[in-house]
Amino acid sequence: MFVLQAPAQQAHQSSQTADPKIQTALNEISAQQVQSDIEKLVSFKTRSTLSAQDEASIAAGHGVGAAREWIKSQFERDSRDCGGCLEVKTDSFTQPVSDRVATPTVITNVYAVLKGTNPDDAKRIVLVTGHYDSRNSSNENVTDAAPGANDDGSGTTVSLECARVLSKLKFPGTIIFLTVAGEEQGLYGSKHFAEFAKSQGWDIVAALNNDIVGGDKSAGQDPKLVRVFSESIPDGATEAQLRMIRALGGESDSASRELARYVTQTARTYQTGVSPLIEFRRDRFLRGGDHISFNEEGFPAVRFTEYRENFNRQHQTVRTENGIEYGDLPKYVDFDYVANVARVNAATLAALAAAPGVPQKVRIETKDLVNDSTLVWEAPADGRASGYEVLWRATSAPDWEHMQSVGKETRVTLPVSKDNVIFAVESVDDAGHKSQPVVPVPER
Ligand SMILES: [Zn+2]
Repeated sequence: MFVLQAPAQQAHQSSQTADPKIQTALNEISAQQVQSDIEKLVSFKTRSTLSAQDEASIAAGHGVGAAREWIKSQFERDSRDCGGCLEVKTDSFTQPVSDRVATPTVITNVYAVLKGTNPDDAKRIVLVTGHYDSRNSSNENVTDAAPGANDDGSGTTVSLECARVLSKLKFPGTIIFLTVAGEEQGLYGSKHFAEFAKSQGWDIVAALNNDIVGGDKSAGQDPKLVRVFSESIPDGATEAQLRMIRALGGESDSASRELARYVTQTARTYQTGVSPLIEFRRDRFLRGGDHISFNEEGFPAVRFTEYRENFNRQHQTVRTENGIEYGDLPKYVDFDYVANVARVNAATLAALAAAPGVPQKVRIETKDLVNDSTLVWEAPADGRASGYEVLWRATSAPDWEHMQSVGKETRVTLPVSKDNVIFAVESVDDAGHKSQPVVPVPER
């Protein structure tokens, strides 16, 4: 048994060991490519989910159908460049009539799968998504311009750039690059995809949703920050899980919140040009997004959004009124910022896909009233963990404050009272890639 003699007294921000191959891929993300992709998306005039998707409109380059075909062609180009490493797929369904869908409408999600190279790890899926549909002031107006450069041409481009640079690498775990439609009518595309994933038994351990990451160039913007929203109590938690959360003080340790912390840990490790600003709420007031569809199916998911939004430039018909310009145009987008947000996403996807599996059956012993804390766990099935680290923080602290490497031990006693801190355990491989941390459950 491993007994720690002297606890780390000073706060220690957790980080990872930077993988030079991952940093090289991040450096290949290009603001010029982001600009060209966003301008291309805007060129379809409108990408309203209710706009044209017939063959003639696709050939003319107008409407949501043309946008969908172009996105598909981008993933197919990436796949050709990596010797067919991507499976490019569509998830298509007919959305019945609803509040904002007047006639049954075909909605198509487009995605590319970079399958993991290790059979055990390949079952573990990390995913990045943005919605490629757009709208103007009127949901019913499906012919006038709805440029959607920021909302959500920016998020769509994040998925495209992640696919372009990460498809040049190989990872033990699987990465999915997703773009969805039907968001503006009620998250329909992501809901269908998340339900499909659940029905297939997919193990999605992280869904990164990028919606409005354009870094709108107006007063008050901070291009050094990107907000990362995460839910507290998991959607669909059972009564037994809720009792456990109340008893342990686990309100800020949902899998989505651990994912948000992993994003910050990753961003401290790699050079991305932007820092995550952790927001401890599911989304902004009066707003929702595609991460919620994944949360509702029990998958960890977070939302990335620029620091300060300009509401004159979202869901607005392009016009000038009383000297104020309305409309979501490319000229307001900070392409360098979008590239930096894409770097944080790509770093997180790569770090998670490279990592060994999480420690299994992580428990904290509670059979006696003692001031030491004993943690026990089992090795992940992939056999790739070369060691483990115990993390902890004060119950009132937002992020991990202490990190202690414990080598290959799977049982450790720390001279720190479990009543005063929250613990977690993460796996580390030979190269220093780290899994997501797992918070222990009590064991009597
Ligand atoms: Zn949006």
